Amino acid sequence: MTDSLARSLRDPATFTLTYELVPGQGAGGKKIDSLLEFARLASRDGRIRALSITDNAGGHPALAPVAIGSEIRNIGLEPLIHFSLKDKNRNQIESHLFLYQRQGFHNLLVLGGDFPKPTWHGQARPVFDLDTIQTISLIHELVREYAFALPFHCGCVVSPFKMTEAEQVWQYAKLMKKIRAGAGFIITQVGFVMEKYAELIRFLRQIQKTEQKGNIPVMASVFIPAPGVARFMAGGGVPGVVLPQDLARKMAAEGKKERLIRAARMTAQLRAMGYDGVHLGGNNLCFADIAFVLDQAESMFAKGTIEPEADDAGHRLWFLYTRDGACKPLHPGTRPGLFRLHSLAHHLLFSKKTAVSRLFGRFCRFCDRFRFSRRLFTLAERIIKEILFDCRMCGDCTLAESSFLCPQSGCPKRLVNGPCGGSTRGRCEVFPDRTCFYVRVYRRLDPKTSLQGLGMAGILPPKDWGLERTSSWINFFKGRDHTAQGDKKGKT
Ligand code: SF4
Repeated sequence: MTDSLARSLRDPATFTLTYELVPGQGAGGKKIDSLLEFARLASRDGRIRALSITDNAGGHPALAPVAIGSEIRNIGLEPLIHFSLKDKNRNQIESHLFLYQRQGFHNLLVLGGDFPKPTWHGQARPVFDLDTIQTISLIHELVREYAFALPFHCGCVVSPFKMTEAEQVWQYAKLMKKIRAGAGFIITQVGFVMEKYAELIRFLRQIQKTEQKGNIPVMASVFIPAPGVARFMAGGGVPGVVLPQDLARKMAAEGKKERLIRAARMTAQLRAMGYDGVHLGGNNLCFADIAFVLDQAESMFAKGTIEPEADDAGHRLWFLYTRDGACKPLHPGTRPGLFRLHSLAHHLLFSKKTAVSRLFGRFCRFCDRFRFSRRLFTLAERIIKEILFDCRMCGDCTLAESSFLCPQSGCPKRLVNGPCGGSTRGRCEVFPDRTCFYVRVYRRLDPKTSLQGLGMAGILPPKDWGLERTSSWINFFKGRDHTAQGDKKGKT
């Protein structure tokens, strides 16, 4: 049983099925009993390969996934633990990884997670110390360093369901980085538009060909919402999930059986499309409902008579490919702002090749020698960069990597390697009245930027918070920041 999920995903002849369990608040009660009953029945049925367990889903505190995970394993099924980064700093991440290794949990789904929601005495402080790419890299580094008996099998998430070019291009570019960092499998965001599921498969085949990479298994999320939840999703209530209003209305008028048959149809279609499996989920479902979906899907797939699922909202999403399969021309850099001016200033001061840069470097190093001059210099930097970039003085400047917009003040999750999946219509998940930070970055990029170029760009290492409130200019010339240390700067 120990690595049956990995084996199943790697086997091209097997269509892998997983199901998502969502523990709530509290350590027991009816909800937990029903999750465990689901696990017992799924284990007896034998078609579900693993049960995934969410980690403080929706930004609310809940029973830790490891608690349910142990019980599921005792029942005889493999747990897939959601490893969400909103509540953990890098020490806590390592500590959890040691715990999971010790307890034999090695299937992890690494995701950023929804922004924390108000709870006891208000809202918890969001952490997001590492992003998904950095966490996947850390996991591989720990596996190497500690020679774990059973290496982690870590997956990542991508959304092919974006409404604007900038959001979609970033999703695919970030996926390329996650694969480079070592993601072992992919699960899509919840979606309802079949053409977009097909687009992801085409994109993966394309990058496999151009990057000469092996096949990375990909599972599609198939979610069966209760009518109320469908309305909530259609109203944008779940970050990053796009459910067309007309489909939500249709679902509200349907009975449960019709909704289950839709899920079966989607499952059969996704299998025919080339997905390696589906990740099922839903509200108010018992195992009998899921068994019905699986029976129907198997019979539709075997007969080869799969009625296509209606793509009602396809036209509202942004497609990477044209109808004839060609990659669409991209339009980054439509609102460059002061990008060229900042770029030129950056080159003059920080390239280390120009006379001005060498002189500035010497001055920075000189100021660093005395406490007084260092403090005066740091104050000057703070005033200039606060006015120009709303700088938060993190001490390790990544302005040049994000079109001269500051991710520390511009992105509520302070992500440095690309956006999360929570934006909708180009708007930020946390502050919907604002444009997503990475949409703004995209609008300023060099118009010649390609998706390939974005996906192959360097992966920024985590911030060294020991540099906070120090001068990033001095740190740059003294070789203390990411530009000098980059990937060499490993764990402690
Ligand atoms: S030093 Fe840090 S906080 Fe300041 S502009 Fe650069 S990235 Fe933003």
